[in-house]
Amino acid sequence: MPTDLHIHSNLSDGTETPEELVKLAQAVGLKTIALTDHDNIDGIEVAMVSGKGYGVEVIPGIEFTTENPRAEVHILGYFFDHHDSELLAILGKIQEGRVDRIYKIVEKLKEQGVEIAADEIFAISGKKSPGRPHVARVLIAKGLVTNFKEAFSRYLDFRAPAYVPHYRLLPAEAVELIKKSGGIPVFAHPVISNCDDLIPDLMAAGLRGLEIYYPGYYADQIEHYLALAKKHGLLVTGGSDYHGSNSGRELKLGEHTIPDELVDKLRNEHIRGN
Ligand code: AMP
Ligand code: ZN
Ligand code: FE
Ligand code: FE
Repeated sequence: MPTDLHIHSNLSDGTETPEELVKLAQAVGLKTIALTDHDNIDGIEVAMVSGKGYGVEVIPGIEFTTENPRAEVHILGYFFDHHDSELLAILGKIQEGRVDRIYKIVEKLKEQGVEIAADEIFAISGKKSPGRPHVARVLIAKGLVTNFKEAFSRYLDFRAPAYVPHYRLLPAEAVELIKKSGGIPVFAHPVISNCDDLIPDLMAAGLRGLEIYYPGYYADQIEHYLALAKKHGLLVTGGSDYHGSNSGRELKLGEHTIPDELVDKLRNEHIRGN
């Protein structure tokens, strides 16, 4: 019964709607999925409802973009109460910050002689979780760059001229927020963040798992994190980080799944916590 615990919809920077993802999940034989949009939980309700129709279990999920002075860290949350008022209030603040940031990126692009309008970006992103990939798509559609790689290296990357940071939580704040809303916090793709020394502090804040099965990870990296999970008594999760068929990434839904046993452990942790 294959499972994928890391999927993005068009409510953040994926290209498919939550319903389309559920339908696709069924078509490719996934039995359980978690929708984990960046800083946005608006797709959960509709995904859960359509999951019932399609016979796909939908676990509530989120992926927080967080930062400390040394690294960008993504924190996944599962099984939280997606009606929790504190969670919704903080997400509202993060989303406002993301919208303001788009206007600033547009200004900086203008200084570079690149003319696009903020509304062209919002037309594809909506006003909840707009991000750099949406800006990249507009740049590509208007023929101003040829692909994602060029959009990021010329304009949007951390050191590129149109880079703008946005309001983010600290990693430990995201962990605490997920925990307070009844969820299970998991360190997303730790190989990418490359800051294992944060794990003890995040555990003190309530971290319960590591996302270890991730596309492109080498066997030695997986072994390293399995050993860390064992040492710290952390759950092991995984997912594809699917962003849609038109996202500039090659991977297809259903190509990267994790064993039932891991999902059962995650579910049991949630049941125990309640
Ligand atoms: P944002 O949250 O708006 O800062 O955008 C972050 C997202 O941009 C990440 O989740 C990636 O999907 C994407 N991204 C970041 N760097 C690159 C890059 N160099 N090439 C393509 N996509 C990237
Ligand atoms: Zn993304
Ligand atoms: Fe991520
Ligand atoms: Fe992701």
